[in-house]
Amino acid sequence: MTEPRVWHPFTQLRGFQPRGHIVKAEGVWLTLDNDRRVLDGNASWWVNNHGHAHPHIAAAIAAQAQAFDQVILADFAHGPAVNLTERLRTVLPQGLEHIFYSDDGSTAVEVALKMAVQAQQNVGERQRTRIVAFEGAYHGDTVGAMSVSDRGVFNEPFWGLLFDVAHLPYNNAEAVESWLGQHGSEVAAVIVEPLVQGAGGMVFCEPEFIWTLANACQRAGAILIADEVMTGFGRTGSMFAVNQAEVVPDILCLSKAITGGTLPLGATVCRDAIYQSFLHEEKRRAFLHGHSYTGNPLACAAGVASLELFEKENTLGRVTTIEATYRQAMGRFAALPGVSNVRARGGIFAFEVEGTRGGYLDPVGRRVADAAFEYNLYIRPLGNTLYLMPPFCITEQELTWALDVLAYAVETQVSGAAAS
Ligand SMILES: *Cc1c(COP(=O)(O)O)cnc(C)c1O
Repeated sequence: MTEPRVWHPFTQLRGFQPRGHIVKAEGVWLTLDNDRRVLDGNASWWVNNHGHAHPHIAAAIAAQAQAFDQVILADFAHGPAVNLTERLRTVLPQGLEHIFYSDDGSTAVEVALKMAVQAQQNVGERQRTRIVAFEGAYHGDTVGAMSVSDRGVFNEPFWGLLFDVAHLPYNNAEAVESWLGQHGSEVAAVIVEPLVQGAGGMVFCEPEFIWTLANACQRAGAILIADEVMTGFGRTGSMFAVNQAEVVPDILCLSKAITGGTLPLGATVCRDAIYQSFLHEEKRRAFLHGHSYTGNPLACAAGVASLELFEKENTLGRVTTIEATYRQAMGRFAALPGVSNVRARGGIFAFEVEGTRGGYLDPVGRRVADAAFEYNLYIRPLGNTLYLMPPFCITEQELTWALDVLAYAVETQVSGAAAS
């Protein structure tokens, strides 16, 4: 028995069978090897915004692959990294200027944490040793990113390895103000998912909460890190979630949709003051951090092409239309037995269903997903939190259809569970 053993992520592999082999992906549709087409209601783990295999991005990657592949970004510069940096600066909040490239969301977060801690030391604030994060947070699966994430099922075997972090309640402005008022002088940095906590269960906060947090950080002298790995590039309706809170964080983390969902790339963006604090005659005062594929030219070229599409295809306008369709469907979902907390923000539609145990390990989500899959809608619930997050190229008709399938799946699986 020497069959290949791909170790699938976030999956209990005992008895596991894949839902199929994907042989093609185009727009919102995934084609399986039995010619079946399923709608990608998950945007392939939140990375895809313009639709799969977009010809504009594919052409940019192909052209770059023929010019040059990975080249070292220490000692040299190259067009794709410079172009992406310039393009990003035109859409980023004013004041965010310098961009450090890495590989994915987790490394974008690791870079942000290290950058913040070292920046505080650079300006002589050595007593600032504490990192603050939020209950329910998810910032990735590497050890530093796990440390700032909520302590829960995703990281329980590693609790002994994780550094100590103060976790404050999300969307609770008073708690944040009072805690930072008391302990602010010990804090190096605060990391937050603005507007929506993703893997924590699509939990929303008020824009005012982020605004209050930013002000409290400024008063306390703490560096504010906005983790926009999921919310960035239109997912919440604006280019970045911090736009809606009218906040310019000190550091911003990007990944997922930065390349339109084509190639892995992480970016950590910072204000000039942070960058300036690293400039010194001594080499050890530099940010001695890097990754083999830092500034990958193919990924950067894809990033530029993706940003071009935001203009060409009025991508943010599409998100507005998607949200309007969600809003029309909200009442209908709220009326389904066992459904609560129906919410929509930008390209995200989410609600909770009554299950057997609640939380990420509740099997009810999987039952609903299986029922939806029968009708060719692919979703991947977070336990008893169900959500729809398709690529923005979805048509009105496709979205209405997806909502119909989702409602039907909930109706048959959730009310059935309540009855038995
Ligand atoms: C997905 C995610 C990450 C981790 O990104 P990876 O590319 O999976 O390492 C970090 N922060 C947030 C908010 C995310 O949603």
